[in-house]
Amino acid sequence: MNIHEYQAKDLFRKFNITTSKGEVFENAEEAENYAKSIEANEYVVKAQIHAGGRGKAGGVKLVSSSSEVKEEVARMLGMTLVTHQTGPEGKVVNKVYVEEASTIKKEFYLSFVTDRKSEKNVIIASPEGGVDIEKVAEEEPEKLLTQPIDPVTGIQPFHIRKIAYFLGFDKDQTKQLNGIINGMYNLFTHMDCALVEVNPLIITEDNLVKALDAKINFDDNAAFRHKEYDELHDPTEEEPSELEAKKWDFSFVKLDGNIGCLVNGAGLAMATMDIIKHHGAEPANFLDVGGGASVEQVTQAFKMILSDSNVKAILVNIFGGIMKCDTIAEGIITAAKEVGIEVPLVVRLEGTNVELGKKILEESDLNITAATTMKEAATTVVSLI
Ligand code: ADP
Ligand code: MG
Repeated sequence: MNIHEYQAKDLFRKFNITTSKGEVFENAEEAENYAKSIEANEYVVKAQIHAGGRGKAGGVKLVSSSSEVKEEVARMLGMTLVTHQTGPEGKVVNKVYVEEASTIKKEFYLSFVTDRKSEKNVIIASPEGGVDIEKVAEEEPEKLLTQPIDPVTGIQPFHIRKIAYFLGFDKDQTKQLNGIINGMYNLFTHMDCALVEVNPLIITEDNLVKALDAKINFDDNAAFRHKEYDELHDPTEEEPSELEAKKWDFSFVKLDGNIGCLVNGAGLAMATMDIIKHHGAEPANFLDVGGGASVEQVTQAFKMILSDSNVKAILVNIFGGIMKCDTIAEGIITAAKEVGIEVPLVVRLEGTNVELGKKILEESDLNITAATTMKEAATTVVSLI
């Protein structure tokens, strides 16, 4: 789960990570009054959306008076911001953050993330902050330093020394960096984050080290022990179909293709997307209905797939284990009656009660193409679009 920059910065303050003074607004006059009250020489007005790349897209503006703060906040509120991370449809700006501007001497990159390969949390640092870090990773990987952290011993002085040396920090800057890294690590572990990212981390003209941007992603698997995630959740930032899926306990990710997928099990769902792509088409979604879906859930899954107008055919790929093939067959029939499936439907069933499931489908008057193997299912559905 992602949160906004202003929320991440509130957490940064709690964990003693140096940031600038700032507040979030949904109203231009209030923003102007706030700007007057903090009496900065310059201000930065920042659109709050769950995506980076705002700077290049006009979502981060430097202004020099409180009246300009008002103008910029008014301009940004309600606008649709398109950045390289939002996709072409962009994101609507509902909140704007106003903070004092910093005089930047140099920008760096610093983040904490879980690295599955080393099975540890790692710190990633780079002297090339502010810009596209993905580009740095691709074109100049030597400019990124990755430091694995032993979960038992946590952050050690040698981590700080290595990073400070790599970034070219002096003694005083290193002391400040120590505070920031320890604060970020505490935040990362206490709040069960999947990512804590500062891009850019800056050194100001008066030698202050601070976080100018803040991005946090919480590990959804830890939500049960963090009721505070709920308060930070902004449903307007989420894909409506993915929100709906959560209510029904599905794992669902909307994609750009035109073959809807209804699958049980995350691994089989991934393999189904792979085989569709292998045969030259694109999946419209990832959908894992779980191990033991009911007829009602299967019906709901069809509704969700069909609500996407890009879907030109559906591939159902079910391995009946706990979930029985006859349940799926009944779900398909109920869904077809309720929502009317007008696109071609290819069904591959295997496992528990497969014969019964097939029989139920055959006896229905639905236009279903049955497939036995995954290859057959994929080539059939691709040929039908
Ligand atoms: P994004 O990553 O979405 O583009 P950032 O918060 O990183 O947004 O802002 C983009 C750029 O704007 C930063 O790299 C920095 O150069 C500048 N900037 C952001 N906040 C401030 C600030 N408080 N003072 C001065 N410059 C800022
Ligand atoms: Mg940034």
